[in-house]
Amino acid sequence: MSAQSSDGADERAAVKNDRKKWRAGVLGATGLVGQRLVKLLAGHPWFELTEVAASERSSGRTYAEAVRWHLELPIPEVARPLVVKGLDLALDCDFVFSALDSSVAGSAEEAFARAGYPVVSNSKNHRMDPGVPLLIPEVNAAHLDAIPLQQKNRGYDGGFIVTNPNCSTAGLVLVLKPLADAFGLEEVFVVTLQAVSGAGYPGVASMDIQGNVIPFISGEEEKMESEPQKMLGKWNGERFVGAGLGLSAHCNRVPVLDGHLECVSLSLKKIASLNEVREALRSFEVSPELAALPSALRRPVVVLEEDDRPQPRRDVHAGNGMAAVVGRIRECPLLDVKLTLLSHNLVRGAAGAALLNAELLAARGFLKARTGAEGGTGEDRLAERVSR
Ligand code: NAP
Repeated sequence: MSAQSSDGADERAAVKNDRKKWRAGVLGATGLVGQRLVKLLAGHPWFELTEVAASERSSGRTYAEAVRWHLELPIPEVARPLVVKGLDLALDCDFVFSALDSSVAGSAEEAFARAGYPVVSNSKNHRMDPGVPLLIPEVNAAHLDAIPLQQKNRGYDGGFIVTNPNCSTAGLVLVLKPLADAFGLEEVFVVTLQAVSGAGYPGVASMDIQGNVIPFISGEEEKMESEPQKMLGKWNGERFVGAGLGLSAHCNRVPVLDGHLECVSLSLKKIASLNEVREALRSFEVSPELAALPSALRRPVVVLEEDDRPQPRRDVHAGNGMAAVVGRIRECPLLDVKLTLLSHNLVRGAAGAALLNAELLAARGFLKARTGAEGGTGEDRLAERVSR
């Protein structure tokens, strides 16, 4: 996902001209999220893909042989010949993305962090851990301040874990943030219609989902009711203090390939007209620091006016899949306002989110070249980065 707009072009160009890129490994590179990461990393201006890792089923084979590729564009040339490794703590990279199945992600991510790797994770395992930022840069970039204490408390030397939220939480929180800033939030009631790709591959059996809706996704409602509290809350220097929102979620799996749709009703602390709500969403703009990140959108919330939008098939790729698309903003007879939102579960809710998190970590000096790595010393890359 390269920069599409001219927003922050000067800063991006400055970083792009750096002599060296940070070397990235992808754990779980053969899965749905891992493939998206591999694709987004190909041609990335700051990062280069140097390692791919997955289970014993895949390791020892080239990436092209091991992966069951699901994306429309072909496997990037840079990835095809890479030999898939196991969860080897001597990967040749400066940091790792984790798109591991949650059955292994918990211990593997801790082991990598302990071995000195920054871990940028998609998995649920460490999201609610004390000291681990649950990050959407546009929402809670300040939560990165927790990293030094995480390292101290866990005895990590250089390594750490940063996570991104659950795929349905990501779009929701991005839309809640401008409303929380402008009016304050009291209660949120959300019903999701979630795509099948949210369950990984092969996911839900076709005979269960074709022509059907499944009104249960294990653990999903709990995640949607807890993760926004952490993200919309504050880091007070010692711990995360929750936002104290009233939040209720109903989660459903629907026969859509990509894109989670969410029907949201909410109550605000301050009285606001529908026009003010619309304007708060439409004008939500990130800081210049964030706008300069290669995957960032200056305005990550897109507001549509048509009565029948957003729709997964038509709108899921808005902003290269990084936008939260909002429509149907109207009065709610029970709470104050209701609206419909859509976000790409594999991009905004997973791979793109992790990439943006890594970009912010790089821009803030949290990524360093690992000592002894091929292609340069830590000082090289760090000095160039600081010169931005
Ligand atoms: P997936 O398609 O099932 O892929 C899982 C990956 O984990 C594969 O690369 C698999 O490797 C690897 N893996 C499984 N068992 C392993 C083991 N014992 N050792 C090493 N690697 C192992 O799942 P996904 O949808 O990409 O999701 C990946 C993670 O992101 C999950 O934790 C998920 O909850 C989270 N997430 C997913 C979404 C989404 O929309 N799909 C959104 C947000 C977060 P093999 O191919 O070798 O088996």
